[in-house]
Amino acid sequence: MSISDVDHVVPYPAEAVARYRADGLWQGRSLSDSLVDACLAHGPRIALVTPEVRWTYSDLAAQVDSFAAGIETATDLMPGDRIMFQMGNTAETVVAYLGSLRAGLVPVCTLAQHGAREVGLLAGHVGARALLTQGDFGGGRLLEVARGLVADGSIETAIVARTEPFDGAVGYDQIQSAGRGVVPSTVTPTLTDVAVFQLSGGTTGLPKVAPRLHEEYVYNSRAWAQALGWTSDTVVLYPLPLMHNAGIALALQPVLLSGASIVLAPGADIDGMLDLIAAERPTSLPLVPPAVAIRLLDHPRTSSADLTSITQFVVGGQKLPGEVAHRLRDELNMPLRQMFGMAEGMFYLTPPDASDDIVLDTVGAPISPLDEARVVDPLTGKDVPAGELGELWMRGPYTIRGYYRAPEHNAAAFSDDGFYRSGDLGRRHHIDGVDYFSVDGRIKDVINRGVEKIHAEEVEELILRNLDVESAAVVSMPDPVLGERACAFLVMRKGAEPFTVASLGEHLASHGLAKYKFPERVEIRDSLPLSNVGKLSRKDLRDEVSRLLEAESVSHSHADA
Ligand code: AMP
Repeated sequence: MSISDVDHVVPYPAEAVARYRADGLWQGRSLSDSLVDACLAHGPRIALVTPEVRWTYSDLAAQVDSFAAGIETATDLMPGDRIMFQMGNTAETVVAYLGSLRAGLVPVCTLAQHGAREVGLLAGHVGARALLTQGDFGGGRLLEVARGLVADGSIETAIVARTEPFDGAVGYDQIQSAGRGVVPSTVTPTLTDVAVFQLSGGTTGLPKVAPRLHEEYVYNSRAWAQALGWTSDTVVLYPLPLMHNAGIALALQPVLLSGASIVLAPGADIDGMLDLIAAERPTSLPLVPPAVAIRLLDHPRTSSADLTSITQFVVGGQKLPGEVAHRLRDELNMPLRQMFGMAEGMFYLTPPDASDDIVLDTVGAPISPLDEARVVDPLTGKDVPAGELGELWMRGPYTIRGYYRAPEHNAAAFSDDGFYRSGDLGRRHHIDGVDYFSVDGRIKDVINRGVEKIHAEEVEELILRNLDVESAAVVSMPDPVLGERACAFLVMRKGAEPFTVASLGEHLASHGLAKYKFPERVEIRDSLPLSNVGKLSRKDLRDEVSRLLEAESVSHSHADA
């Protein structure tokens, strides 16, 4: 399938592009060239550390070249083709990401938790031809997803890393040996084409895809590295999924662009992280979501661990409750930086050495001087005064102007003059002459489960495929560690057997929905509450489940006493 980006990407207006270039933010180079330049510039320094490799920039560049050259001979993929990634944190993921860019392919990020449904829908939406999968992940689960997608024609080419490929798939090792010692062709992508597709937490409905363009995506990562002052002495420990926007735009790319090192942990288990902190002495530890930071706080080894190498402890991705922020600052002794970010672009970060009211209560200020951050009354589109609650709207040199292939949705999600209406609620705080922002809820129907997003509408639509259900609403319920989990309120048809958490999970699994999206509580009702304009009132349901949880925790604590 060939899909023209020109028809599906909302471009940045010419005057904005001219400004970003004149100010040196956009530099007229592709993402691939920018990253290759970095590898050439920092040859003997350590670029990547995983449990299996410790590579210099030159080592990494050689692997990347082999992959790019091997793709040309071992597959029939062509520059511009989209390649989906369903990979964990491995050296192969880094090589294939950079190698794909080098070969002119367009990486599409998916989550390892996704099932065949999500990956298949996404493949169709972006017109992906290939899928790179990690054979040894989750007991071979990803391999099954890939095999199914090839069998039903959703994907033409599967590439399997770290295990033998199945029949009809190509091995990652096969690609590497085909390309070893061969110089890859030079590919010059059009800068206004999509460089990378990122999955967005989105505003509403089925997940939306953020098309990240070459110059803005490079700038996003450079601005992040600059905001944190990264240099070739920086060592970043990254224990969270790399193939997220945060992993790519805030860890891998800014590390490479600054000649720093990335220590890629296979997962966020705290013992493993503490071992890596002792062995590698990282200077920067981004922990998105706060759930991992909370586990770190509560782990028995933490209080005796030497965390002094870490001069930046960056936490965000989800609202950081005040008491957790205090504990992180007081108990861990690592300089805390809060951040807010999104696959659509925009990043906020608290400055170093900020006063308590900034670092504990806000997510900081935008990282680029040309970022435009507003807090707006969503009904009137007018800015609200400092301190008042409104919707966060943003625009700037690395914030997308529209989702990919989504004109109708874009009309609602972006203002006429190109501001992204994030669906997040927050406040502007004017402190010492600078605007800082806090995030205080949201108006979009998205549940943020440990930063993995669940779109209420997607789950509701699948629930309603069971004809025993008359109406369904999936809302967030508070969780002390993950932040939020999903709760389903259901109205069953007369005489139907009511769903339980287990039977609802079975029903959703039969539709291929990823498990993290399954509701973890089910409430059966005779009807669902409506707002005064006759629409489903999710707020009433969120309040109701919060009250139920509170009452249950009180009765548990009485029972324990
Ligand atoms: P994603 O597009 O998956 O990166 O998710 C972006 C969304 O995560 C934002 O629109 C917010 O809803 C949420 N988010 C990110 N950072 C924070 C934060 N520091 N506090 C509250 N919510 C956040």
